[in-house]
Amino acid sequence: MEHRAEARIDLLALASNISFLKSKAEVNLLAVVKADAYGHGLIEIGLAAQKSGADWLGVALLEEAIALRTHGVRIPILAWLVPPGSDFNSAAKHDIDVAVASIAALEEISKLQVKPRIHIEVDTGMTRGGFLDEWQELLNSDLSKLDIVGIFSHFARADEPAEQQNVEQLECFKVRVKELADVGINPPIKHLSNSAATLVNHAAAFDMVRTGIAMYGLTPDLENLGDSQKLSLKPVMQLRAKLHLVKKVQSGAPVGYGATAKTTQDTTLGVVAMGYADGIPRIAKDAGVFIDGKRAPIMGRVSMDQFVVDLGPNSTAKSGDWVVVFGDGSHGEYTADDWGSASLSINYEIVTRIGPRVPRIYAPHVY
Ligand SMILES: *Cc1c(COP(=O)(O)O)cnc(C)c1O
Repeated sequence: MEHRAEARIDLLALASNISFLKSKAEVNLLAVVKADAYGHGLIEIGLAAQKSGADWLGVALLEEAIALRTHGVRIPILAWLVPPGSDFNSAAKHDIDVAVASIAALEEISKLQVKPRIHIEVDTGMTRGGFLDEWQELLNSDLSKLDIVGIFSHFARADEPAEQQNVEQLECFKVRVKELADVGINPPIKHLSNSAATLVNHAAAFDMVRTGIAMYGLTPDLENLGDSQKLSLKPVMQLRAKLHLVKKVQSGAPVGYGATAKTTQDTTLGVVAMGYADGIPRIAKDAGVFIDGKRAPIMGRVSMDQFVVDLGPNSTAKSGDWVVVFGDGSHGEYTADDWGSASLSINYEIVTRIGPRVPRIYAPHVY
């Protein structure tokens, strides 16, 4: 059956981004594949990243890590959203490293016969994950029976390289590493950098970088770091959909729910077979699709399964034609960045929210 919409995932672009980021970092690379690999497909991307030279995989949830293991991932996997009450036995059984950010989690792991390897997460100023108020208690704890292989933290503003907070977090991280060393724990794997830091803050690379968005070929921050092309990244996902209906419409026609848009000339409208149930943001205003070498902007509100675009008065498009919703931008098509800006959001949210109804096709992009 022909699809009405598909997210085309270019695994060669992924491989190219991984080798580029590895050459930048000059240390091990952990490929972040949480949230269904940012919408690109957990297992496929996990296996492709492994094949393309990633040294580690990183996920939020233990379930994500276990799914990767049971589908043939052999390289180390770190799961970092593993609160007290998690199934630490399964983590150990599946050879999954876990982040520990609290005394409660540490105590649970201490009681186990077979323990998972641990990366101590420290809060260096983001005030989200990691040890903060319990840090001293951690230093006073008996850590001798635990297999602590890593210490890590996370930047809040790595995509704003000029911000003083980056310097402060880096310094704080070094202090925490030293304090842990002073009680006899020297984890061999220290890691701090996300994509943005990997690209612009080499001093923060330590023993490993954790790259997510850049590995998918997208910029961590359009305004401060520039777009994919400027960063030498290749967008991995191209989203395309079919026009399921094309119609000639007169000037002055109200379009869609709420009649929020009206045609201002006689024109051709196309009905695109995707909607907000598929992750097309309902709020998106200045986005659209690409067909026949030009952009066709959205008209009116995005509906659940469809949205309308203005193909222009001279369009020869017909029902069944493909349109590119977003791609790498090199042909003039909209990008995930454009959709992010058009919906007051960021590329991360655009790709991670492409819904499960949209099949992921592992193939080169097409026009
Ligand atoms: C999501 C995440 C990353 C990856 O961030 P990007 O900006 O996508 O590179 C790295 N580390 C942790 C702890 C994360 O949660």
